[in-house]
Amino acid sequence: MTHMHVAGSVHADVASAGPQWLAVPTDVNELDRRLWSSTVRRETTGSLEVGGVDVVDLAGRLGTPLYILDEADFRARARAFRDAFAGWDVYYAGKAFITRTVAGWVHQEGLHLDVCTEGELRTALEGGFDPARIGMHGNNKSVRELEMALRAGVGRIIVDSLDEIDRIEELCREQGTRARVMVRVTPGVEAHTHEYIATAHEDQKFGFSIANGAAMVAMVRCHASPVIDLLGIHSHIGSQIFDTGGFEVAARRTMKLLSQFRQATGTVLPELDLGGGFGIAYTSQDSPSAPEALAAELREIVETEARAHRMPVPHTSIEPGRAIVGPAGMAVYTVGTVKPVDLDGGAQRVYVSVDGGMSDNIRPALYAAEYSATLANRVSDQAPALCRVVGKHCEGGDILVRDEYLPADVRPGDLLAVPASGAYSRSMASNYNHVPRPPVVAVDGAEWTTLLRRETLDDLLALDLGPVVGDLP
Ligand SMILES: *Cc1c(COP(=O)(O)O)cnc(C)c1O
Repeated sequence: MTHMHVAGSVHADVASAGPQWLAVPTDVNELDRRLWSSTVRRETTGSLEVGGVDVVDLAGRLGTPLYILDEADFRARARAFRDAFAGWDVYYAGKAFITRTVAGWVHQEGLHLDVCTEGELRTALEGGFDPARIGMHGNNKSVRELEMALRAGVGRIIVDSLDEIDRIEELCREQGTRARVMVRVTPGVEAHTHEYIATAHEDQKFGFSIANGAAMVAMVRCHASPVIDLLGIHSHIGSQIFDTGGFEVAARRTMKLLSQFRQATGTVLPELDLGGGFGIAYTSQDSPSAPEALAAELREIVETEARAHRMPVPHTSIEPGRAIVGPAGMAVYTVGTVKPVDLDGGAQRVYVSVDGGMSDNIRPALYAAEYSATLANRVSDQAPALCRVVGKHCEGGDILVRDEYLPADVRPGDLLAVPASGAYSRSMASNYNHVPRPPVVAVDGAEWTTLLRRETLDDLLALDLGPVVGDLP
């Protein structure tokens, strides 16, 4: 039995207009520079251009939905993190988005790389990534994945359970190798978007709890192992974080743990990883810090906590994913239907349906993530209308952009571009409703290259081994 209600009374809060943070634009054609990759501009024709490539032209050649990655922007963000955090190691979190080509860019820009499955590891290695600069994550790495990581000679494995430590020791003995290991700890901080909670957030699958002593047990266990080189400890407190308060609490608790480990064993572990999670601007309500500001704050935090515990400053690393690839990507869709819906109080919301949706970007449905959108094929002199951009899937929650002002004459055939779509969209894509996954194209210097081709229905049906009864009509 589902919960039912009279729509009017419960949904009255959406009546008049969009959310408070969303201002009615004075010029609905104007691009908010904070949301778009650095080479995006509107041409005199009204079309969007990125990397010197016309978005309308590209969509005409490759169809939509289409993901476009601005290579220069990606590389610039990678370099900005590398330079701001000079002396530390910056690991690009491959799970945000990785292909062989992207792994190559990360390698060329001098960053390290995080992977968390065999698939990501193989992509990185085939992209020419130096295994010594790769970190391997995951709370349930298979024996096969660990074996592959050890054989490849990855720089470090971030262990997440005692079972995994057993497996690593066994594999090291078999292979006659040693493993370089960090212990993933749970510092009891969870950060999300604009707030963090520094209480007991221990009830989750990742890491060893500092609070209940499990982290120390795992560290001592690794330290005592004849085949493991324990480098240090690792914490990752969340995603889309805008202030460094959560990192401060994490650094305090991890430095305290390193100090307690020294007391217990006489050994100073040399390394600390503070994870990723640096926020980006998806909408005008987000104001992320530049890497330089983040670096200054995080260095200060680590140095202060080290001093407080009379410990040497550890060799520190961070793991940005979203902050490098997110703003570099945009998604392009074609409008299929436009449907005004009356809200309480006389307001209207226009439902704009596009040819993609939750299968290529699950984030709004998965955790109410917010996005923005603009017309990509033309400008309009019409007034802004409050719109909701929805996908083509058979789910009411198949929303791409919950609230956005688009020109009132938005119509079937228009192209919509969604900025900040480079991270956790195509990489999380599914085939729900048997919808093939969109391609990803890199643009740079007026050239474009396909990183991932469009999936086809033949690709999908190749997995379906059932009988072929009929042919195409
Ligand atoms: C997901 C993840 C990251 C990257 O997070 P972003 O929000 O993309 O910066 C870094 N480290 C670990 C361990 C992760 O799980």
